[in-house]
Amino acid sequence: MEGKKMIIVTIDGWSSTGKSTLAKQLARDLKYKYIDSGAMYRAITLYFLRNHVDWTHPEAVQDALHHIVLEFVSNHKSGQTEMWLNGENVEYVIRDLVIAEKVSEVAAIKAVREFAVAQQQEMGKNKGIVMDGRDIGTTVFPHAELKIFMTADEKVRVQRRFKELFEKNPNITLEEVKHNLEMRDYIDSHREVSPLRKAEDAVVLDNSHLTMKQQLETALKWTHEKL
Ligand code: C5P
Repeated sequence: MEGKKMIIVTIDGWSSTGKSTLAKQLARDLKYKYIDSGAMYRAITLYFLRNHVDWTHPEAVQDALHHIVLEFVSNHKSGQTEMWLNGENVEYVIRDLVIAEKVSEVAAIKAVREFAVAQQQEMGKNKGIVMDGRDIGTTVFPHAELKIFMTADEKVRVQRRFKELFEKNPNITLEEVKHNLEMRDYIDSHREVSPLRKAEDAVVLDNSHLTMKQQLETALKWTHEKL
C-alpha cells in the first residue's frame, strides 16, 4: 500500500441498516482496517452490567472506565476483527439483546463517549480505515474524505435484525426487536452529546431495495472518486 493515497471512510446511520456488513466488505476490498465503534459501546455496557456499575453516578462511571481495556483482536481463522474486553473475547456476548437494551443509555454518557472517541481517533491517525457507528463522520473524524450515511425502511431493518437474533435465540419476538430498534434510534438521535445525525457532507445510501453487491459497488465507486 506504500505510496498509495489512503483515506478515512466513515459509515454512520440508523440501527440495523447493515453498516457493519458494508464496512467490513469495503475494508476488505480496499485492504483497510475495519473498526466497529458500536462494539466498544457494547463492551463498556457489558462491563457495567457485569460489575453492577451505577451509571447514573459520574464518579462510578469514571472509576469503572479506569478498569476497562478494549482491544480489537484479529481472529486468524475467520479473518475478522473481534472485540476483547480486559483480555476476554466478548465479540459474541455483546450482540445479545440484553446488551442492546442498555447500550444506548450507556453510550449517551459524556465520559463514556470521550473514553471511546479518543481511542477511535487514535486508531484512525494513519488513515486507511473504515469505521462505522453513529457519530463517526460528525465527531470522530469530521475531516474524513468519504462519509456515508445509511438508511433503510424500518420494516426491512426489523426483519434483518430479527433474522440475525433469531438464529441465536429462537424465543425472540419480532415485537421485541422492533421495540429495541425504535428505542435505540430515538435515544441515539436525541442525546445531548454527539447525537446520531447525517454530517452535512455525507452521502446517503438507502439500501431498502439494494442487494449487498449493489451497495458495495456504490460505496466502492464513491471511494475511488476520492482516491
Ligand atoms: O452499531 P451498533 O448497533 O452495534 O451500536 C450499538 C449502540 O452503540 C448504538 O445503538 C448506539 O447507542 C451506540 N453507538 C454510539 N456511537 C457509535 C456507535 C454506536 O453511540 N459511534
